[in-house]
Amino acid sequence: MMLERVHRAPLKPDQKLSVLRQYLIPRLLYGFQNPGVTGGLLTAADRVIKRFVKRVLHFNIHTPDAVIHAAARYGGLGVYCLRSGVPFTFYRRLDRLGREGDPVIRAVMASPRVARLVSRIRQLAGDVPPDQVWKERLHAGQMTAGLRSASGDPASSAWLRARPHGWSGRDFVRAVQLRTENLPVVGVPYNPQPARQCRGCRQRIESLSHVLQGCPVTHGMRIRRHDEICRKVARHVAASGMTVEWEPHVRARDGALYKPDLVIHTQGVILVVDVQVSWESVNRTMSEVWDLKRRVYDQANFREAAARRWPGGCFRFCPLILGARGFWPRCNQVTEDLLRIPGHLKASCVNSVLKWGSSLHSAFMRTVWA
Ligand SMILES: [Zn+2]
Repeated sequence: MMLERVHRAPLKPDQKLSVLRQYLIPRLLYGFQNPGVTGGLLTAADRVIKRFVKRVLHFNIHTPDAVIHAAARYGGLGVYCLRSGVPFTFYRRLDRLGREGDPVIRAVMASPRVARLVSRIRQLAGDVPPDQVWKERLHAGQMTAGLRSASGDPASSAWLRARPHGWSGRDFVRAVQLRTENLPVVGVPYNPQPARQCRGCRQRIESLSHVLQGCPVTHGMRIRRHDEICRKVARHVAASGMTVEWEPHVRARDGALYKPDLVIHTQGVILVVDVQVSWESVNRTMSEVWDLKRRVYDQANFREAAARRWPGGCFRFCPLILGARGFWPRCNQVTEDLLRIPGHLKASCVNSVLKWGSSLHSAFMRTVWA
């Protein structure tokens, strides 16, 4: 009932989510920590909450619960799950009272009636902390397993807590849909096989990763997404007093042409930076993507050519990898340290990737409908 009022209120989608997370759920949490609580009651409340979230964000009905309940740092939306959270918290409080309370309370806790209650709550709670349960479920899901190697950095979810400056409510919803694979495509398991083919190129299954990362239809916008990240990084390093060369061409003796995105000179060290937006996938972890990128330049042929181009330089190779669903993966650590990238720049790059991902998908849809 309260959720219905919030849903009808003239609020932006991100504001509705905030009201749910910061006001409504804490109230329920408090109310449900009483001896009369049952698993069924909590499950029913969760169902109402999930329905609300799916309505506000226009989610597909097949969206797994883990996407809603897993913490933002693991790639979920971080909406509290009452069924797993309440008994766990309640049990821990009761248990602490039984062990650490004053003698009178300890005596009450030891009485058969209270002991029965505690044992019932303990059964409801289970043994594994809910945070872990939801993380594992998210990272085991078919569509969401790739987030395992991408999640972790707070910059990846800053936009979920506070809608970025310049984003509309619709931009926010589209970004959440991108993060949770709720942007519509036909290459989904519940479509019959022949209907899954890409409507743009007719070459591959029309998955979100194909539309964003591989389809020729969106190629031009992919380049612009990539260049925007390069520009942001270049502006930052230039402002920190380092000298930046933009896409220098380096010709090797065997004729190979190398075009690293940025070459940065700082205190006698030459940083070779290449940016890549990569799909968060189980087939290739973000660290593997980072290392593949490094090895494009960190090899004899390029080193020899680069030593002729910049004599006496000491080279460091710094790929910068971003997840296409808006993740700043941990494998960027070396690059972050060398370029002294602050948290707000990471968040800004993440937001660019999300905004471009949304635009790429819209452009694709316009093309295939035209
Ligand atoms: Zn295609």
